Amino acid sequence: MPPTYGMYEVSAAINDLGVKKVLLTNDFQLDVPSILQAADSNTKIMFVCSPNNPTGNVFRKEDITALLEQFSGIVVVDEAYIDFADADSFIKELENYPNLVVLQTFSKAWGLAALRLGMAYSSEEMNKILNSIKFPYNVNQATQNFAFEALDHIDRHKEIVQAVLEQRNWLREAIGQLETVEKIYPSDANFLLVKIKQAKQVYQSLKKKLLIVRDRSGVSLCDNCLRITVGTPEENKQLISALKEMGA
Ligand SMILES: *Cc1c(COP(=O)(O)O)cnc(C)c1O
Repeated sequence: MPPTYGMYEVSAAINDLGVKKVLLTNDFQLDVPSILQAADSNTKIMFVCSPNNPTGNVFRKEDITALLEQFSGIVVVDEAYIDFADADSFIKELENYPNLVVLQTFSKAWGLAALRLGMAYSSEEMNKILNSIKFPYNVNQATQNFAFEALDHIDRHKEIVQAVLEQRNWLREAIGQLETVEKIYPSDANFLLVKIKQAKQVYQSLKKKLLIVRDRSGVSLCDNCLRITVGTPEENKQLISALKEMGA
């Protein structure tokens, strides 16, 4: 459901599978009637990223529920950013929907992207199917050790989330004061989607200063938008100074 995370399309292409895309509505929500209409007997899986990347918002619970109830295939809810959102995880809905798979990861709120470890949660029925098609090799011991170590220090995880939420507020406030910024979208994630005049030039100028943001201006519904990840206080101050210097 673009604009969204691109990796599912890449995985589909690698496996020679067709992909149907249904654009989000103008307020970045799921277009449920169009999605259900686009699904046919060949449609096996729907991928829904909530909070969504790059738009940053969670989708309405009733819309995801409508897909779970009215689509007979698998609905994957990717919750990579759920720790930064107020909304509940769909893990709570697993007992109600045998066709639901919830994905989470150590890559974002745990600060462990290099660990390459994620989780899939699903009904027992679905677990059996997934187990029967997965490779027999499991998560390696070194990765497991790091994961257990991280879980033993859950305070660190809470600190990361708390720091990101504080800095997200600070950044929103600071970016909001720049004259060329037209809109900062609401965010339930660890980044802000910002509509800014001359986004491409701003991106290039920041890059020259080794400040890397994501240029999403070429993405549908994201005209002149940059996706700015919330950094440390120092990084965020550097970003704001750089933007002011270039007259943003
Ligand atoms: C970052 C991200 C992931 C996490 O990918 P990993 O392979 O676990 O690092 C998954 N989904 C979305 C939407 C993301 O933005």
